[in-house]
Amino acid sequence: MTNSFTLPSFVHSAAADGSGGGGGAGSDSGARSGGLSLSQRAMQGAAPPYLAGLNPEQRQAVETLDGPVLVLAGAGTGKTKVLTTRIGHILATGRAFPSQVLAVTFTNKAAREMRERIGSLIGGAVEGMTWLGTFHSIGVKILRRHAELVGLKSGFTIIDMDDSLRLMKQVIEAEGLDKERWPARQLANLIDSWKNRGMTPDKVPAGEGQNFGNGTGLKLYTAYQQRLKDLNACDFGDLLLECIRLFQTHPDVLADYHRRFKFMLVDEYQDTNVAQYMWLRLLAQGCPNLCCVGDDDQSIYGWRGAEVDNILRFDKDFPGATVIRLERNYRSDGHILGAAAALIGQNKGRLGKTLFTDGDLGAKVTVTGVWDDEEEARTVGEEIERLQKSHHPLNEVAILVRASAQMRAIEDRFITLGLPYRVIGGPRFYERQEIKDAIAYLEVVANPLNDLKFERIVNVPKRGLGETSVKRIMEYARARSIPMTVATREIIETEELGGKARRGFRDLLNQFEHWRSQVDRIRHTELAELILDESGYTAMWQADKGPQSQARLENLKELVRFMEQFETLAGFLEHVSLVMDTASGDDGDRVSLMTLHAAKGLEFGTVFLTGWEEGLFPHQRSLDESGLQGLEEERRLAYVGLTRGKHNVRVSFAQNRRLRGLYQSAVPSRFVY
Ligand code: ATP
Ligand code: MG
Repeated sequence: MTNSFTLPSFVHSAAADGSGGGGGAGSDSGARSGGLSLSQRAMQGAAPPYLAGLNPEQRQAVETLDGPVLVLAGAGTGKTKVLTTRIGHILATGRAFPSQVLAVTFTNKAAREMRERIGSLIGGAVEGMTWLGTFHSIGVKILRRHAELVGLKSGFTIIDMDDSLRLMKQVIEAEGLDKERWPARQLANLIDSWKNRGMTPDKVPAGEGQNFGNGTGLKLYTAYQQRLKDLNACDFGDLLLECIRLFQTHPDVLADYHRRFKFMLVDEYQDTNVAQYMWLRLLAQGCPNLCCVGDDDQSIYGWRGAEVDNILRFDKDFPGATVIRLERNYRSDGHILGAAAALIGQNKGRLGKTLFTDGDLGAKVTVTGVWDDEEEARTVGEEIERLQKSHHPLNEVAILVRASAQMRAIEDRFITLGLPYRVIGGPRFYERQEIKDAIAYLEVVANPLNDLKFERIVNVPKRGLGETSVKRIMEYARARSIPMTVATREIIETEELGGKARRGFRDLLNQFEHWRSQVDRIRHTELAELILDESGYTAMWQADKGPQSQARLENLKELVRFMEQFETLAGFLEHVSLVMDTASGDDGDRVSLMTLHAAKGLEFGTVFLTGWEEGLFPHQRSLDESGLQGLEEERRLAYVGLTRGKHNVRVSFAQNRRLRGLYQSAVPSRFVY
């Protein structure tokens, strides 16, 4: 039973382009240029080609190079385009060298795209832009250069969520707390909220420190940080937090960066959290030419500590800021824009903006009701096949979901149909067990202090090292604040463990030493193969007769192939810890599947928005935890979803949905009315 109807949708206005505004255009371009031909053109009044297509407000945002600039504008108005062109302009007019421009984006994908776009404007010089990336990737780069100053060694590892949870579990146990009653995940949220607010343990307010585990929250946080240091490791939050601490405690280091960065640019500024904001402010003290772009209507990371206030008080934080608004939408057809505007118009807490398009009205947004999630997946699959037949590129098709659990049904359907797809923002490839194991081996070779990885593979494949022996080593290591590998060395010289375990551990340590000695001798891809063979890991899957083992062996091969792209093992491992979203094969023509959160900043010809049902979208948890604010954030998320589409947006809801194994009847989301 399928029925379709349409959302009311309308076009706001259709003002002609080029009317009014744009006073600041041409203010300083080329004035201090390095004598490039582009800047000469600029001085002669002929605009360089990359400026020609911009509207007056966009041009102002590109050419106002002195002082703080904020571009506050709706979806698809060219904010990211402005940012990219501005960088091109800075470099083309010789206002700075590529290495003197700091550009921050929200995802690795966005960073890659920005690099490509700048490359197409200015060519090879983009290679020199070593400071273009996400907050995290730039943070890690800074930390690597000054690791010792914050108590780390330069080869430190960045641990993922899994490892971080495991470490927290250990800390909770060591404190003698009941781990059932005090789950690590809850501690993780608490510590995360402190890190998002830029708080090292000494900055946590007394009252808050009493939270969790019978008042031990702060103590556990302190212990967790200490464990990370012992392991020579950082979690994601630390990448910024430790930078902030570094800048605050070493003014000379900060001053060095002040001298370095002549221009700073930030995309998606509405989603910065306090820690990111502090980090930016510290750097911006020495760099008046900060340009931020964003849209308060697209603030969707409040649940992770983002503060939309950062964007709303920009001109107070950075006095003398030029605030520029863009109103013409270049992305979506009229009906899509109309539907999006009607939806977001229901939010109370917003600045309010006008958006218009000069383009066609295009197709209306369709809303389709289906029986259940399986039928939804079938319908989407069929529609995509139809699009494929009419030569619609799959790269221009996306399915955006509210919760990643919705992906399974869709993925299954795509696999059945043989529709090529990629998952964006999801650690799909790297989440596979065999990939995690292989990387664990490589990590331990690169960093012998990485206990978490050591623990992961110590008995994989089985070496007769039971849980008790491993536990004994862990206790031994913890009691002496030494890494597990060192503890193992010591313990096998004693009678503590049985003969079989001792032999097993000794062999493993010797193997690691051997592999480590090869790091500078052979290619890292060869080393990876050597490790997988000599450790018996490959053999383990070869012997396994399970249905998955063949695929696992292929994945391992794929991993080694992928490593080819990197110069060194360290380079590869760094990539692994940062660039989870390139993993699922970015090549070829594929449908994109991702959460709404991961869709920020992207655009597609056709967008499917599935699962628009009460409880799923808006998500019940947001409503329960944050009431009206939660609802408004969900609505902004819906707005982000609608505004990803250029020409076709298809919303669907199911009357029955399986959520966490339960089959429930559902009512359509309030967002479709
Ligand atoms: P979002 O808020 O979703 O991140 P945005 O404001 O960053 O959107 P962009 O992604 O920069 O918007 O631009 C949206 C689309 O409009 C892109 O395809 C871009 O190339 C196009 N565009 C922007 N400005 C112009 C222009 N002046 N002329 C032609 N196309 C433009
Ligand atoms: Mg953008």
